Amino acid sequence: MKFNTKTIHGGQHLDPAFGSVMQPIYQTSTYAQKSPGVHKGYEYSRTHNPTRTALQNSFASIENAKYGVAFSSGLAAIDAIMKLLKPGDELISTNDLYGGTYRLFSKVFKNYDIKFHFTSMFDLNEVESYINDKTKIIWVETPTNPMINIFDIKSLSDICKKYNTLLVVDNTFASPYLQTPINLGADIVMHSATKYLAGHSDVVLGALMLNDDDLAEKLYFIQNATGAVPGPQDCFLTLRGIKTLHVRIQRHCENARKIAHYLHDNSKVEKVYWPGLPSHKNHLVAKNQMSDFGGMLSFQIKRFGKKETISFLEKLKLFTLAESLGGVESLCGHPATMTHASIPKEEREKSGVTDSLIRLSIGIEDVEDLINDLKQAFL
Ligand SMILES: *Cc1c(COP(=O)(O)O)cnc(C)c1O
Repeated sequence: MKFNTKTIHGGQHLDPAFGSVMQPIYQTSTYAQKSPGVHKGYEYSRTHNPTRTALQNSFASIENAKYGVAFSSGLAAIDAIMKLLKPGDELISTNDLYGGTYRLFSKVFKNYDIKFHFTSMFDLNEVESYINDKTKIIWVETPTNPMINIFDIKSLSDICKKYNTLLVVDNTFASPYLQTPINLGADIVMHSATKYLAGHSDVVLGALMLNDDDLAEKLYFIQNATGAVPGPQDCFLTLRGIKTLHVRIQRHCENARKIAHYLHDNSKVEKVYWPGLPSHKNHLVAKNQMSDFGGMLSFQIKRFGKKETISFLEKLKLFTLAESLGGVESLCGHPATMTHASIPKEEREKSGVTDSLIRLSIGIEDVEDLINDLKQAFL
């Protein structure tokens, strides 16, 4: 099956009861048993639920993986991976990481004696210099938030194989339409399905996809034992979202390309961060590893400080000022005061998150309307 077919049919079976074409929402916590232990495979909805099973099969299918595991949020999915570790274990990650992931690592799991090394993943020798026999995971996001940096998944997976550590790729920003990290050697793919997979800004949900049997058994055990499972309604919404993933991402990319070029050619703009521009510092890696360049971009306006930047954002009408990304509607954000406000100023400016940085999640509206909205805000 090819990708577009998988989004609609991957891992799905017609409902045996009435042949309903859409997966029913099994809104139940428990299931009748004929005699203790005699049932149709379902006992209790923390452990299994048919709507969740259908979603997990879809997750596996779209990421070319054997297993999919669903969680009540992206962070719950990350939390489950961390529970594979023991005190004393070490993890290496990028220093421009999603804020919530950084907080979970540095504020929660640090107290459980897990050691974290945050490095810019560009220099692979530096990554290798942190590896020792306690290193269990290399964690990477690509593209990153909000600087839209791209890391070479295949090269990182070669290092992981050499030292026998797991490579986890947070594939939230790209989606499997643009890249499938498992094919590039990743051991586990993680998603905030809240974003592009569900795609309509109406659900919070997380996903893990993987091939290894033992690791999958451990993660299903953690999913049931710790209980951060999504409800059937949210599973349904995510399944429904995935059915249009390919057409949405295609349009997100098309619109982002036009807006990136519009901004790039605008004399008021200082710099545009979008991996499809030849001027992007990782353009070639992106071209190699992704089928297109995605719907997320950031930019800075010349001579703008915090006040002017915020007033620009307030002038936008179609772009809603909001956290999150990956929905059908366009959003704008100010990382310095929103997503990255907890990082000290010098620290964030080192990675490029200046007061004039604006992040856009390009939606699938008519691109002319989006560009006109930007034009009126520049006036
Ligand atoms: C949103 C996000 C997360 C966290 O997911 P939630 O669903 O909000 O818990 C993790 N990684 C990335 C890249 C994200 O954008």
